[in-house]
Amino acid sequence: MKEFFCGIDLGGTKIDIGIVTREGKVIHNIKIPTEVENGPENAIKRMKETINVLLNKLDLSIEDLGGIGIGSPGPLDTKEGVILKTSNLTGWENTRIVDMLKEDFKNIPIRLENDANAATIGEYLFGSGKNHKDFVYITVSTGVGGGAIVNGHFQSGANSNAFEIGHTILNFNGPKCNCGNYGCIEAYASGTALERFAKEAIDSGEESLIKELAGEGKIKGEHIVGAAKEKDPLALKLIEDEGYYLGLSLYNVIANYNPEVIAIGGGLSNALNMFYDKMMETIKGMSLKANIEACQIKKAERSDCGLVGAAALSFYEY
Ligand SMILES: [Zn+2]
Repeated sequence: MKEFFCGIDLGGTKIDIGIVTREGKVIHNIKIPTEVENGPENAIKRMKETINVLLNKLDLSIEDLGGIGIGSPGPLDTKEGVILKTSNLTGWENTRIVDMLKEDFKNIPIRLENDANAATIGEYLFGSGKNHKDFVYITVSTGVGGGAIVNGHFQSGANSNAFEIGHTILNFNGPKCNCGNYGCIEAYASGTALERFAKEAIDSGEESLIKELAGEGKIKGEHIVGAAKEKDPLALKLIEDEGYYLGLSLYNVIANYNPEVIAIGGGLSNALNMFYDKMMETIKGMSLKANIEACQIKKAERSDCGLVGAAALSFYEY
């Protein structure tokens, strides 16, 4: 049985490539810039070079790998191994990434999966989902995504697009989302939404430390979190709203899935303690008591769950 697997966590700004064991231990990994503007051929060529560098470093050959798994922003055709069209990878439409990697790595399985799905599998197998058969992972960063494990089985759906939680709707009269619909969770609770709410308030004349922290630049999540730590009233209100929106979102998740664990990852999870109380108060106010008692809601344990989950695509059956 092969012990080593290659994971590729493909993002809009960087690509994390690592050799990972069956137990989820990262033996060695290298991050390279995606350089989206230089196109997919260029990036995939550098991915191949990086895999060879990792193999050389560890004194392994390609035959020692049980497979290569790629987690990529979607939508994808996972059966054909194609990146269809994604706002994070402009100009990469219809990239046959699996075939392109197979040109150099012929005799090992190569599998493509949605990045949030790969992260869910990683956190389930090697993080806070370990030993829990009903598990949900949510990532809150630029967007909102996630995945669900039901009775030990990852839910991929008919064409790998199940659990698009970011595009479920909280309010049909809400703000417009990137997907074209109105009032999606992503339009309320993502890092991008948090920044937008801050900008709208400041543009309408509200005084806030956020403005000073951002200076001439764009308002970022870190400015809002920084201002909230200084008890800035607008920042505190925005963080409280974030807790409320995520609470509503997780109430829906609990009502649908009755999970034992919900793990929250992504950039905003680093500020989870600031909006945790409001989030829990919202959930508890709405959910069935028994469902809340059965569910732990916590920060994801593996910040590298996207990488280890991609590597696990070669051996985790779903
Ligand atoms: Zn949407």
